[in-house]
Amino acid sequence: MSALDPVLQPHYETVLARNPGEQEFHQAVLEVLESLGPVVRKHRHYVDEAVIERLCEPERQLLFRVPWTDDQGRVQINRAFRVEFNSALGPYKGGLRFHPSVYLGIVKFLGFEQIFKNALTGMPIGGGKGGSDFDPKGKSDAEVMRFCQSMMTELYRHLGEYTDVPAGDIGVGGREIGYLFGQYKRITNRYESGVLTGKGLAYGGSQVRTEATGYGTVFFTEEMLKARGQSLSGRRVVVSGSGNVAIYAAQKAAALGAHVVACSDSSGYVVDEDGLDVDLLKQVKEVERQRISAYADQRRAATFVAGGSVWDVRCEVALPCATQNELDTDAARTLLANGVVAVAEGANMPCTPGATRIFREGAVLFAPGKAANAGGVATSALEMQQNASRDSWSFAHTEERLRDIMVGVHERCATAADEYGTPGDYVSGANISSFIQVADAMLSLGVV
Ligand code: GLU
Repeated sequence: MSALDPVLQPHYETVLARNPGEQEFHQAVLEVLESLGPVVRKHRHYVDEAVIERLCEPERQLLFRVPWTDDQGRVQINRAFRVEFNSALGPYKGGLRFHPSVYLGIVKFLGFEQIFKNALTGMPIGGGKGGSDFDPKGKSDAEVMRFCQSMMTELYRHLGEYTDVPAGDIGVGGREIGYLFGQYKRITNRYESGVLTGKGLAYGGSQVRTEATGYGTVFFTEEMLKARGQSLSGRRVVVSGSGNVAIYAAQKAAALGAHVVACSDSSGYVVDEDGLDVDLLKQVKEVERQRISAYADQRRAATFVAGGSVWDVRCEVALPCATQNELDTDAARTLLANGVVAVAEGANMPCTPGATRIFREGAVLFAPGKAANAGGVATSALEMQQNASRDSWSFAHTEERLRDIMVGVHERCATAADEYGTPGDYVSGANISSFIQVADAMLSLGVV
């Protein structure tokens, strides 16, 4: 499979030297550079004009302290980040992640991925990402509100509908976006709807935004199968995770006739041979904010397995929708032995490089996250479009737009893969197509 072209090797080494200890960022950069050999051999000017170096260095990186007071009156300190990676195609766009594992390397990997993902959508959005090591788990609503208000009190000066537009990611959902938007509105005295996406439907949010990442992953999977004369109908599907992406991927796969039998959280996984009950899953995870074992307690056909790997459950279609590097080489081998035909990354970089290699060499249809999970940010761009025109669209119309966008993402990946001699390889197709678009825009804008 693709190795790093000698022309690109020094650029990767520069990234390693400039960003020590940021393993996830290194991994994300390497995955893109490994696809670009055929591009730089054909178009040498991308190297000569330092486009690769420019792309790997964020335009701006913000790192700041967030002080807040907990319910006991104690002062707490968290660290927050916003990496404004690339604005060649539009304002920086990408979510905020609240999770104890967040550090600069995670934010940079996510921001880097976001540049290419956003380009693939065909929408006018640049790439950025942010977050904090704040853990919303176990915090009261009032604590979450005070944290969000404090974070926005610093962040607001860097945002704007034409500058930088955050949204949610792991640990940041409707509740957090509401508190962040409220504080932005208060500080600036501007009802600037397009400054954040993932807003509630009551105050400028878009229909389908909540469902969009999961739905988009399934639309992309359906397109990959269609290209081989197959479909999702009747397929046995496993999703990992049980958050926003997993829930709506399961719902859409089932609506297209698939049999979705398992999902997971960090405590273990649930197998439900009757097909996952998505409403119950939503109730347990989103309303009650409980562990996934509570789902099995309420369904006779379901069993909860503590610990272990959800990828031990036999399936034909695997949708990793939890978090980075959750699916390793052992899991990939198990899936292959169990007859998996398609894998689509609903999360960002959930498959380790070794796992990805096994799928690609095993002729499994493999959709990288920057293509398969682009539906979320694409619908954020649709939210910005509605906000800018002071309009609000129906669910059916918005879902149709999302579907068309995902068909377009698939088309771009497939065409680039064909053109650069790797037909059927969605990893190289996604990387090449988006790189060329961003690189050409950067060159047009001059050295800025
Ligand atoms: N966090 C999501 C992603 O990884 C969505 C970002 C957005 O809507 O701006 O693409």
